[in-house]
Amino acid sequence: MVGSAQTPSPDSSNNQSGLLLIISGPSGVGKTTITHKVKDATNGRFSVSMTTRAPAAGDREGEDYHFVDQMTFNKTRDAGELLEWAEVYPGCSYGTPRQPVEQAVASGELMILEIDVEGAIQVKKQMEHAYAMFVLPPNENVLLERLRARARDDEAAIARRFAKAKAEINKAWDCGIYDDFIVNRDLNRAVDEAVALVQTRLSA
Ligand code: 5GP
Repeated sequence: MVGSAQTPSPDSSNNQSGLLLIISGPSGVGKTTITHKVKDATNGRFSVSMTTRAPAAGDREGEDYHFVDQMTFNKTRDAGELLEWAEVYPGCSYGTPRQPVEQAVASGELMILEIDVEGAIQVKKQMEHAYAMFVLPPNENVLLERLRARARDDEAAIARRFAKAKAEINKAWDCGIYDDFIVNRDLNRAVDEAVALVQTRLSA
């Protein structure tokens, strides 16, 4: 299921020196590592998403996510307080609280959203100057091996994640909203490339 875009507010995605950075990519591609390195190298800040998924071991409320029930999520969404939202997995909705993002960008900060393609499309509709980056695996076999190597899931769950990852990659190419695609062949190189691209945007 796809979240519908909220009422557009004025585009504040690159007011002053602030920048809204969207990083997407399929699960298992190394996106979270790249995102954290970009944040550290650029003094950026993460948006804390709201989600209805259950906290996993090690998840910190208010730092990794705001964990809420479906009713709270729906109320927040219906009040227009989410910049974007999507049902990323069946029964698990995720959304970006609008106000912290708008405030950070308006005061000149770099705000980083690690969100899926549906969410990224909604953000770009409202904030056309947002800079969107998509992290790709070198090929499908590498992605499948990385999903297996995480040893989190059984083979059926790995197959589901793999199918979803391939669909996410196709959607990212087709939707036309991504400014840059980074191929994660070698993690250090992918990080260097991502950091350099973001720094170029920040100094533009
Ligand atoms: P996880 O449950 O593994 O932390 O996240 C699953 C996926 O949800 C990630 O790949 C991430 O891109 C996506 N996601 C996390 N937060 C948001 C959000 O606020 N909005 C959207 N659209 N996707 C999100």
